[in-house]
Amino acid sequence: MKNKIISVVLVAMMMVASLAGCGSSSSSKETLVVGTNAAFPPFEYIGDDGNPDGFDVALIKAIGEKIGMDVQIQDMEFDSLVSSIGGKIDVAIAGMTVTEERQKTVDFSDPYYEAVQAVIVPKGSAIATADDLKNCKIGVQLGTTGEFIADEIEGAEVSAYNKAIDAVNDLNNGRLDLVIVDKNPAAVFGTQYADQVDVIDGSAFDFEAEFYAIALPKGNTELAEKINNAIAELKKDGTYDSLIAKYIEE
Ligand code: GLN
Repeated sequence: MKNKIISVVLVAMMMVASLAGCGSSSSSKETLVVGTNAAFPPFEYIGDDGNPDGFDVALIKAIGEKIGMDVQIQDMEFDSLVSSIGGKIDVAIAGMTVTEERQKTVDFSDPYYEAVQAVIVPKGSAIATADDLKNCKIGVQLGTTGEFIADEIEGAEVSAYNKAIDAVNDLNNGRLDLVIVDKNPAAVFGTQYADQVDVIDGSAFDFEAEFYAIALPKGNTELAEKINNAIAELKKDGTYDSLIAKYIEE
């Protein structure tokens, strides 16, 4: 009798094991598909192992752990992120500034970082004030707040690139007078090309503060609340500060 019970239990266990091995994923968690543009250091870039890394990538992974979801990162063009939410991707984290225009299509989480645009100029350039930006050849990243600002500058000839680094390369080739890009990537590019460029803080040009947030599907208040609670917890438990210290030179 005892043997019979044992064999029934064994058979049952084998059945469960074979079910688990049959096409089901190793994790029972739901997957959050996260879009980013891994060409925006230190927030997102391709790490030495060939995978996306950076502050945003680490932050969304920490959020995933808090809300019990597996995070899968999809690297795509910045300009396609907003329109892909609810389709190819669930949410986007990409140093994305909250703007009224974007809010027509997506909702945003609570902001997690304050930034401002900066200006990269060739070393020794005379550009120093807002007036000096007029009639210049300006490089920007396509679909970014840097492009929106450049479009408003009187007489500016604006070239939009898929990656900000391509604009910096054209600056170094002498094809541009300046590049407008968010302050943290500007600082990274400034260090990378320290003997060719200078980075000027946006305050010299009266650029407004911008707030980065995670772009979410419009009307999904349940997901928004989970993500906002996770951000608040990560700030409280010190994870947020340790990620800032690890990734961002301030
Ligand atoms: N913060 C800028 C924007 O939202 C640039 C973001 C980026 O290039 N990843 O438009």
